[in-house]
Amino acid sequence: MSNKQIYDYIVVGTGPGGATIAKELSKSGKKTLIVEYGPKFSGTGFYKLLTKVYIDENKKFLITDGGIWIGRARILGGSSYIAQGNAATPPNKIFKEWDINLSSELESAKKDLRVNFFPQHLIGEGTRRVIEGAKSLGLEMKPTPKCVDFSKCVGCNNCMYGCPTGAKWTTLEFIEEAVTNGADLSLNSSVRKVIKENGKAKGIQFEKNGSLHTIEGKNIILSAGGVGTPIILQNSGISEAGKGFATDVFEPIFGYTKDVGMANEHTMAVHLDVFLEDKELFPAPYMYPTMTLVKDITGFKPVKLNTINQLRALAKTRKVKAKRMIGMMAKIRDEITGEVRNDGTIIKSLTKKDKEKIDEAHEINKEILIASGANPETIKRGSYESGHPCCTAPIGKVLDKNQETEIANLFVSDASAFPSPLGMPPILTLVALSKKLSKYLIANS
Ligand SMILES: Cc1cc2nc3c(=O)[nH]c(=O)nc-3n(C[C@H](O)[C@H](O)[C@H](O)COP(=O)(O)OP(=O)(O)OC[C@H]3O[C@@H](n4cnc5c(N)ncnc54)[C@H](O)[C@@H]3O)c2cc1C
Repeated sequence: MSNKQIYDYIVVGTGPGGATIAKELSKSGKKTLIVEYGPKFSGTGFYKLLTKVYIDENKKFLITDGGIWIGRARILGGSSYIAQGNAATPPNKIFKEWDINLSSELESAKKDLRVNFFPQHLIGEGTRRVIEGAKSLGLEMKPTPKCVDFSKCVGCNNCMYGCPTGAKWTTLEFIEEAVTNGADLSLNSSVRKVIKENGKAKGIQFEKNGSLHTIEGKNIILSAGGVGTPIILQNSGISEAGKGFATDVFEPIFGYTKDVGMANEHTMAVHLDVFLEDKELFPAPYMYPTMTLVKDITGFKPVKLNTINQLRALAKTRKVKAKRMIGMMAKIRDEITGEVRNDGTIIKSLTKKDKEKIDEAHEINKEILIASGANPETIKRGSYESGHPCCTAPIGKVLDKNQETEIANLFVSDASAFPSPLGMPPILTLVALSKKLSKYLIANS
């Protein structure tokens, strides 16, 4: 990569937003540079991921001042590397609210991600019990659409700790395609700001190996995620970015049965879609008590997960008798409140309405767990968790309909562009949104 080169497109970030646009743009033969904060990471497993990906360089989790844990991965592939493989299509209500038609792009995204339904034969004993429990209450759980090649899946439930068999789709596939198409890739490069001239984007400034570099591009596409993008925008003079934040918060719930548990079962193999439209809830069987344990240890303040805390978390995890534990969660569409500051801190607490949704979800999930055989005395509420940071540079406010900012030729294509949260897994929508922007950029180049 030569610093003298002027790229047609510079794409910042390699999550679903950035990787898709890099793949599509590089196909058009234009010179494309992909800039990624993190390294190529190929580790898998609970301990490695917890200590190397889920915590930052200061060994801290990303937790808001209101005690909401925010999952994200700053490595090649972004959070697709740690995603659960869910590839759900949001209800039409959302796209009406957005006034955006993504139907053809969603179809194309489904093909690219080889979306298929979770197969019956991989559904575990504990999940089957929860399906039965829900059914006894008149609630039908449906197989979850996944971007997983089930011929390679061993149902180990390690998706969120890096898929060990390569069954789960990640954006590494798109990045590889973009590089094959001729795109350059710069890893370990932290973009600080966009360079402007006469109101137009001209390039980026980034830090690599301890020094600052600039590189020129005719069009800049920020896809640094719901937390990363608003920071770059603020540093570039767009102060409205990051004012407002949503993240599809959920609070898991766990309980013990006499005879069955969800240990090592694929989480969210099925889900309930009946509460999506009216209650804006996405309930599903869930078995990741890790963050609840971390909360027990740290009080869920943004403390360092130092060696002692790591060992305590590990010891606690081992004590969980997941062989008899079943669990549920329900993502909510939280309100867009708070802010992402350019020092990386996030100000966000649940509003009264959010808490009401969380409580309603808790009651639904509790009833299901009890109907599935969980002892009501053992029911435990988890921590506030999330992994869908979004709405920090929304279309209609910070971006125009073509996802362009007030700085000409500076675009955003990631979850920060969402006008409102989905309240459900966003990857498919992100891929679709980036496909739409790619078409626009190619048509107008
Ligand atoms: C544990 C977990 C499980 C999930 N499971 C699912 C699921 O099953 N299905 C689903 O649809 N969604 C899931 N999600 C959510 C989904 O992964 C994210 O919503 C999605 O990855 C967001 O895509 P993005 O392109 O907006 O940003 P990201 O995926 O966050 O990518 C942003 C990229 O930008 C890079 N970056 C950030 N700042 C800079 C900078 N300054 N300079 C250069 N690069 C930068 C980051 O390193 C990262 O690679 C999950 C999330 C988590 C945390």
